[in-house]
Amino acid sequence: MSFIRNNTRSIKLGSVTIGGGAPVSVQTMTNTDTRDVAATVAQIGRTVAAGAEIVRLAVLDERAADCLAEIVPESSVPLVADIHFDWRLAVRALEAGVDGIRINPGNIGGADKVRRVAEAAGARGAVIRVGVNSGSMEKEVLARHGGHPTAEAMVESALDKVRLLEETGFRNIKVALKGSNVMNTVAAVRLWAEASDIPQHLGVTEAGDAFSGTVKSSVGLGLMLAEGFGDTVRVSLTAPPEEEARTAWEILRAVGLRSRGVEFISCPTCGRCEGPLFQLAAEVRQRLGDVKAPLKVAVMGCIVNGPGEAKEADAGIALGRESGLVFVRGRQVEKVPFDRLVDVLEQEVRNL
Ligand code: SF4
Repeated sequence: MSFIRNNTRSIKLGSVTIGGGAPVSVQTMTNTDTRDVAATVAQIGRTVAAGAEIVRLAVLDERAADCLAEIVPESSVPLVADIHFDWRLAVRALEAGVDGIRINPGNIGGADKVRRVAEAAGARGAVIRVGVNSGSMEKEVLARHGGHPTAEAMVESALDKVRLLEETGFRNIKVALKGSNVMNTVAAVRLWAEASDIPQHLGVTEAGDAFSGTVKSSVGLGLMLAEGFGDTVRVSLTAPPEEEARTAWEILRAVGLRSRGVEFISCPTCGRCEGPLFQLAAEVRQRLGDVKAPLKVAVMGCIVNGPGEAKEADAGIALGRESGLVFVRGRQVEKVPFDRLVDVLEQEVRNL
């Protein structure tokens, strides 16, 4: 399946191109105290290993902004400073070397301050992401929309904020319209694409724990991406940011936009299942978590339906009684007892 991607303007966030048909990039956000440089750098490293291509950090005070000067050189991906209320923190973060900032131009002290931030970002070629969150919208905008953060209200709020920036001549902008209501967010993203060519960052905010967040993000991001919207994505989970990055990649893979690492296929099991499939599937996933090549690996519970699926994959196993069959690229290569099955499958995958 091929996509017609929504046509957005192309901007550069450090080494990452956003919009203009560039691949949709995966973003996450650290949850360490940014003033703890060692912990933050370590977490950025883990998220990058899990597939993050852009990382955002909360900058709450001047010390945090200054710590960015030590964090930026240690990061292999562009960093975005998340700023609220204080325009001076935005300028300080830019001086510390971040490639982007996330602000709400409506809450940093008026047009003059917006101009100062835009000038600082412009001088460094940095991106400004304008965020609209359904939970914290301006009273006046809400009043014009019956008191509710409707899709129209979110777009109006974003357009107001973008106007403040564009009036300064700044164009290196990305927007994010996020709501915790999935279908409302989807509607806002569609409307935005009609109103502007500014690239969009997609996400369903406050989506919940790993279970409900994954479901909501998969539905929301899946719909938006399948309609061709979105230039960067974040899956928000009440879980470590590495999980967010992994989940984002699974969603991009499921809609056929990008792939990275092993695609796992396993059966739900039924009365035909011949062995400890749940345990084996979990172990295979854990062992192959570091493989970056886009390979398909199947773990199937019986020799009735298992071999067909295992043969379709790059490598796979199908359980029989006390032993399993191992397949590589459509060929049965070995019959192995359960206790050695994962070792053999892992070796075959690594050989590929
Ligand atoms: S592969 Fe076999 S064990 Fe797994 S669900 Fe299908 S029939 Fe059941």
